[in-house]
Amino acid sequence: MMPKMTKEKILIVGGGFGGVKTALELADDSRFQIILLSDQTDFRYYPTLYRTATGGSRANSSITLHNLFLGKGVEVVQGSAQTLDRKAKSITTTEGKVYNYDTLVLALGVVTNYFGIPGLQEFSYSIKSQVEVARFKAHLHKQLIDDRRPDLNYVVIGAGPTGIELASELPTYLRRVMRNHGLPQKKVHIDLIEASPTLLPRMPADVGRTITRRLKKLGIKIYTNSIVQGATADDLMVSGKPIRSHTIVWTAGVTNHPFFTDNHFVVMGRGKVAVDTFLQAEDGIFVIGDNANTPYSGLAQTALRDAISVAGNIKRRASHKDMKSYKAKRPVSVIPGGPQWAAVQWGNIHFSGKLGWALREAADFIGFKDLEPWRGATKQWLTTFGHEDDCEVCTIAEASRRR
Ligand SMILES: Cc1cc2nc3c(=O)[nH]c(=O)nc-3n(C[C@H](O)[C@H](O)[C@H](O)COP(=O)(O)OP(=O)(O)OC[C@H]3O[C@@H](n4cnc5c(N)ncnc54)[C@H](O)[C@@H]3O)c2cc1C
Repeated sequence: MMPKMTKEKILIVGGGFGGVKTALELADDSRFQIILLSDQTDFRYYPTLYRTATGGSRANSSITLHNLFLGKGVEVVQGSAQTLDRKAKSITTTEGKVYNYDTLVLALGVVTNYFGIPGLQEFSYSIKSQVEVARFKAHLHKQLIDDRRPDLNYVVIGAGPTGIELASELPTYLRRVMRNHGLPQKKVHIDLIEASPTLLPRMPADVGRTITRRLKKLGIKIYTNSIVQGATADDLMVSGKPIRSHTIVWTAGVTNHPFFTDNHFVVMGRGKVAVDTFLQAEDGIFVIGDNANTPYSGLAQTALRDAISVAGNIKRRASHKDMKSYKAKRPVSVIPGGPQWAAVQWGNIHFSGKLGWALREAADFIGFKDLEPWRGATKQWLTTFGHEDDCEVCTIAEASRRR
């Protein structure tokens, strides 16, 4: 009788871009036993979450992990990783469950950081999950219906991609909600607050200038060099002056997941984990995506690239081959700026408008296809054109408009 082969136990922590892609890349290899541990039951496709926040379909930005791994031989378990025991090679969750590993891949993403600004956590909205998005939309509806007019100001803090895409889509959405509820169409005031001197501070200046022109055309008021100092139930204090608002959205601050400092990893600038040329923090412990200190960390495309590199090296190692060094690649940036418009930065090429929008649609399809088979990816991509609201009045009005 042939001896039974022991499988290498791969524990992947985090069901986001990096974790899911690593698991998918390894799933077809019978040498591995793969466990994916995530604190959520769904995978969040963050790049389209702003659409869900402005009346788009929920399915456009979310897929259940169960569906993603159906029939793929990956064990998906729910729990929140808390403690790493390097000697025992195990992770313990806050729920008290223990998962052993031979190889560990950590892809826990980042967490929101309010930098201790008084009142901000209490009085602002965030759009990093379906729950947060639902809370934000419920507020927009309630406020419009109760007051029969828009808020004095809708304030978005942070002029990175998330803040820009949300601010530029909000006026259209709010006008639609007003129309659906038969409310008088009043002017909508959107303010975009940024601490840096320019929008998109991490991108070339000309992209920032193009976006600035576009936002101004949409009627969005831009405040650069502006420091948020505090929030109350009625206003936001910015560089010594109050802005009256009941709708503040915080998109400006994230920090690395506390798991890494709690478990004594070596962290570098912006709290990212120091990794070697194979994305290992330590022998047999890979750290990828937003958690790793790599040049383009903080983008979905980077997390996917990291996952492919790490999965390749896990396979190579299992075949007793040398691992290959990871090569960082500058991702293509496509920043939506309201209906059917996006700015594109592709290496040294930069353009904007409808063509940019078409590229963004294509990029989303590729993004879905990276994680799902053709059928699932197409189905999810088609939800881009759907509307979804918890509000019954809006649902009926949208349906009758489509008829
Ligand atoms: C609103 C928004 C819009 C964005 N838009 C874009 C864009 O247009 N283009 C782009 O390239 N990038 C975009 N990004 C950034 C991109 O989404 C991230 O870079 C990417 O998600 C990083 O992948 P990751 O696997 O490192 O982390 P994530 O995708 O965040 O995954 C981390 C996973 O770990 C889970 N987790 C957290 N803590 C634990 C724990 N203790 N135990 C178990 N599981 C845990 C989380 O629930 C999550 O499932 C956006 C981000 C946001 C927030």
